[in-house]
Amino acid sequence: MRNLKLVICSGKGGVGKSMLAAGLLMLFGREKRVTGVDCDVDAPNLDIWLGGVKKWDKTIKVFASLKPEIDYRKCNLCGLCVKNCRFKALSFLKGKLKLNPFLCEGCGACEVICPQKAIRLKAFQNGEIRIKKIHKKGSQEIVLISGSLFPGETGSGKVVTEIKKQADRFESDLQIIDSAPGTSCPVIASLQDADFAVLITEPTPSGFSDLKKVLKVVNHFNIPWNLVINKWDINPSLSNKIKNWASQKLLGQISYDKKIIESVSLFRPILETELKAKKEIEEIFEKLKCTIQSL
Ligand code: SF4
Ligand code: SF4
Repeated sequence: MRNLKLVICSGKGGVGKSMLAAGLLMLFGREKRVTGVDCDVDAPNLDIWLGGVKKWDKTIKVFASLKPEIDYRKCNLCGLCVKNCRFKALSFLKGKLKLNPFLCEGCGACEVICPQKAIRLKAFQNGEIRIKKIHKKGSQEIVLISGSLFPGETGSGKVVTEIKKQADRFESDLQIIDSAPGTSCPVIASLQDADFAVLITEPTPSGFSDLKKVLKVVNHFNIPWNLVINKWDINPSLSNKIKNWASQKLLGQISYDKKIIESVSLFRPILETELKAKKEIEEIFEKLKCTIQSL
């Protein structure tokens, strides 16, 4: 198997992406060299579902944002940049030009418009990437790459691209990419170059509706996909409707169990419990293994 990229994605948050990604990583890790790539940069938690990481092996700074640097010696306070900043990130305070970095989108309009050439865009740290080699009983080494966007920062898609570049440096047979929920930049960046997508949803009206939205993105990239329904038993009739909708694409389902959260809160991976969800994830794994074999 080449370095196959499998993305776990969902339209809605909290439907079990990271739980499934961690389970699949541990199961594939028994047979192959696997890399787990946590691209949910606003709320990375794949490490927790894998049992927690006390100390990361390596941390890398990410400079994937641009912010203006003002040369006050050149600025003559003409105000053109303030007027033309659509994001209201520039203002005058006590007779001095001030930047609010939390409002700045790094568009560069101020740099272009300044007649004094007093503004220059500069790379700015907006996140970090963490790397850990995890050893699980019965598994080969699992490389985990996780990254986060700093609070209030922009550029989540760019941070995801940097995380994926780091992941590509490790030789592996399979990358399991835990995407952010929704359909925005980090999801698009996660899905780029993907060989297969496992969509996961829950049987709620918002879960089903958001699933159809993310599927549009998956289809845009022509990525083959399968579906998992998590907590199927909280609404069996809607689960049946989703199953009929998915038809042959249905990969499996996972039952609701409040012990899953109890388990993860104790940093105990589902694969190391005897919960029903463990068996269900194993069944999903067996089916997925056959499905991706031909890719
Ligand atoms: S456009 Fe240039 S010179 Fe004018 S206020 Fe802004 S930084 Fe200063
Ligand atoms: S880079 Fe764009 S958003 Fe940031 S201060 Fe300049 S004009 Fe405003």
